[in-house]
Amino acid sequence: MKTIPKGELFRELPSVDELIHTPPIAELVRAHGATAVTDAARTVIAQLREEIGSGLLDAASLRVALDGIHPAIEAQVRKSLTHSLHPVINATGVILHTNLGRAPLSESVFDHIRDTAGQYSNLEFDIGAGQRGKRDVHVDRLFRRLLSEEPAAPVSTIVVNNNAAAVLLALNTLAEGGEVIVSRGELVEIGGSFRIPDVMAKSGATLREIGTTNRTRVGDYEKAINERTRLLLRVHRSNFEITGFTEQPSTEELVKLARQRGVPLMEDLGSGALVDLQNFGLRGETTVLDSLRAGVDIVTYSGDKLLGGPQAGLLSGRSDLIAQMRANSLFRALRVDKLTYAALEATLLAYVRHDFESIPTLRMMNLKKEEVGERAGRLAAAIESKKMQAIVIDGESVIGGGAAPSSVLPTRLVALTCADLSADELAARLRRSDPPIIARVEDGRVLLDLRTVFPSQDSLIAEAIQRIA
Ligand SMILES: *Cc1c(COP(=O)(O)O)cnc(C)c1O
Repeated sequence: MKTIPKGELFRELPSVDELIHTPPIAELVRAHGATAVTDAARTVIAQLREEIGSGLLDAASLRVALDGIHPAIEAQVRKSLTHSLHPVINATGVILHTNLGRAPLSESVFDHIRDTAGQYSNLEFDIGAGQRGKRDVHVDRLFRRLLSEEPAAPVSTIVVNNNAAAVLLALNTLAEGGEVIVSRGELVEIGGSFRIPDVMAKSGATLREIGTTNRTRVGDYEKAINERTRLLLRVHRSNFEITGFTEQPSTEELVKLARQRGVPLMEDLGSGALVDLQNFGLRGETTVLDSLRAGVDIVTYSGDKLLGGPQAGLLSGRSDLIAQMRANSLFRALRVDKLTYAALEATLLAYVRHDFESIPTLRMMNLKKEEVGERAGRLAAAIESKKMQAIVIDGESVIGGGAAPSSVLPTRLVALTCADLSADELAARLRRSDPPIIARVEDGRVLLDLRTVFPSQDSLIAEAIQRIA
């Protein structure tokens, strides 16, 4: 059989201009406008060009593709006019999956956002006084209830865009032009490009490294303090552990030194649990209150990690230092909008009411292995077929999101093997389902962890798998 050279196949492709003047496409232009349709036509032709280039299309299959070009353009137009951000089912068992939006929010958050953001609100208005107010009062009062302890001085909290912004604001406010002492064991990179030395440089403070990767003593801090020292910084090792021959001063030792020398101590806690998570199966995670109680002056943490709220960066601590940060013009640049305040306020109220079940992150952490196992068993039974083997096995869910690196929660997994699909291909098919299902692949099997799947989604997973095999 004579093969047609690629060059000739390329010549078979219509021009965008020709296309949009053909009757069915002209009809689309009338309905959706020339820009959307031209873009869609361009995308479809570019796809064909690529497929010819990579040898995927020969003369016969190109003919088939060109016969279907009008519906393809119409589908592309429709796709371009729908949301690009859409729900997915997280069957990975990673509770705070940064790529999947970290903490899912509670129902009360949406009620509060609908109530306050769909109309005007007192975001920055003191209704009693009839004049301008402060936006942080709405959540500061709740943080005070959750974090202040008699007889200690009340704690203040402000909110910025994320924890990276919180660290930047704190360093710039407290240490611009001066030195910040950090242990070499804590010069970390967390998640997408948050690196302590880089943030330090941007803040205008100079990093003063002390100790070694595995061992730093309180004496190292003491020796490094000089007249240019503005801050002692401790960074939580959120996404890794150093084990073996290691040493780190206790928070109490650092507090004592900081007080003696009149230098504030800040802790970048990162994950920021508001309640003791031991009851939720997580051991050894320091809470924000633990740090403040120990005497740390400023604590920074994320809103969408263990707190289970919206993306935000929280700075809690000594009122005089927080007041300085609020007065910094950088605070204005990093401030958050009414959606975040509403989401945060609703989440914090759940904490104040001890209604932890309403916060999805905490609810998922709290699920017992047996509960996950029961659902896994029902799913496995529903999808088992000649081609699809589904068994329930022991496994581990992880917290993720740069929180609690060594903490895992025992879980039960559905392990899938399909007779005529590789594990990678099966996982890809699941991702192409509607809604997309994101799963783990391990040892040639697809693993589904229902801990991070909302119970109402179990049946969607079953249906998607039944469609595949
Ligand atoms: C996650 C984390 C950050 C970054 O927080 P974002 O809210 O993602 O900006 C910074 N420091 C620590 C210790 C963290 O765990």
